[in-house]
Amino acid sequence: MPEWAWFKLNEDAIENFANDYKKFLCEAKTERETVKYLIKEAKRYDFKPIDELEKLSVGDKVYATFRNKLVAMAVIGKNPVTKGFRIIGSHTDTPRIDLKPAPLYENSGIAMLKTHYYGGVKKYQWVAIPLALHGTIAFKDGTVKDIVIGEDDSDPIFVIPDVAPHIGGKKQESRKGTEVIEGEELHTIAGNKPIRSEKQDEKDSVKKMVLKILEEKYGIKEEDLISADLALVPAFKPRDAGFDRSMIAAYGQDDRVCVYTSFRALIEQEKPEFTAIGLFVDREEIGSAGDTSINSMFFEYFITEIMRKSAAGTNIDVLIKAFTNSRAISADVNTVVDPLHGDLYDLSNAGFLGKGVILTKYTGRGGKYSTSEAHAEYIAWIRNILDKRNIPWQSGLMGKVDVGGGGTIAMFIAQRGIITADIGPGVLALHAPYEITSKADVYSAYLAYKAFYEEGE
Ligand code: MN
Ligand code: MN
Repeated sequence: MPEWAWFKLNEDAIENFANDYKKFLCEAKTERETVKYLIKEAKRYDFKPIDELEKLSVGDKVYATFRNKLVAMAVIGKNPVTKGFRIIGSHTDTPRIDLKPAPLYENSGIAMLKTHYYGGVKKYQWVAIPLALHGTIAFKDGTVKDIVIGEDDSDPIFVIPDVAPHIGGKKQESRKGTEVIEGEELHTIAGNKPIRSEKQDEKDSVKKMVLKILEEKYGIKEEDLISADLALVPAFKPRDAGFDRSMIAAYGQDDRVCVYTSFRALIEQEKPEFTAIGLFVDREEIGSAGDTSINSMFFEYFITEIMRKSAAGTNIDVLIKAFTNSRAISADVNTVVDPLHGDLYDLSNAGFLGKGVILTKYTGRGGKYSTSEAHAEYIAWIRNILDKRNIPWQSGLMGKVDVGGGGTIAMFIAQRGIITADIGPGVLALHAPYEITSKADVYSAYLAYKAFYEEGE
């Protein structure tokens, strides 16, 4: 069994870091909000848009953002960029319940919103809990509006109703566990008050009332919902968990725990040996497809801009050389042993809550499909830099062989020729509306990422 992280770390430092982290989680519940937060904070630490600088030299701090959903940042190091980068990539998106493009309808006197779940959600977990609506609506005149409804205590919330046990017990009992709630049973309530009308039997009078409110309060017409990115996320606030307050319960810690800890490590870099890169990408939860994912050419654009402005040149051979000289961490969470389901883990190869950041040699599924396995030599190098600084860490895998599996962005970083390993804290109840981390593990992750940026060869 690995040692307790608590015994190696300063408790005040753990607690202070946890408090900052919880504030971040309150503010950043979607990929757009996360990107906005990161840019706002980066500016306070003298990061500048890369387009504003003609030339880059040691200690310069730059960022670039793409479609408001992805951000890349860099602190220019002492070594020429052709000697490679130190890259930490994490993801800004989290499992959630998106609205469909035409969501609003009325049934049985209740206005409802149709949804489509995003990422690996266990559908039954999302019913009968308070949900907040977050997102962006784009209008035909080119203006956009951000909305957040349900986070302020005075806001209304949304709820996906579950069927009463008196009525639905039999129907749900006969279903498989994964089908207890089905995709089209994830619609949320949106109103129940009819609009006043001259007509006796006004059709869709409740839906009309919702539309009236949307128009008056937010300037939104029904057809505007077609051009919107709107998502329902748990309306819970991050809370300490347990008598000893050792844990954090919050929505979206996969992977915002890595976003936050790696970002904190990056902004502390002044003149690192190697140029330090922080990549905060979208769409990981659905397989890293799309122009804001780790597979976006925007990554190459950002790296090429750094090389050009550092006078290293931008020929493809120079770029590939820099990639093959680089080292990366895919900063993502792993599972930890769940006391209620210990049979699913190989206990000598699993991570435990509170025992430090987890070094995951490979993820994937089946016969090691869909993963980038970290090379022995690279794991040895990482082990050494963590031990040198006495940072709590443990080795972990995702569960017993053939029990389950999962992927991260590691394989997509690696396919550029960049040596990569997965490192991140463990999460209990991963992908649930309330995910649980250990404050000591969160702090360990930050220390690990900092060490990665700061250590030399
Ligand atoms: Mn993740
Ligand atoms: Mn995930």
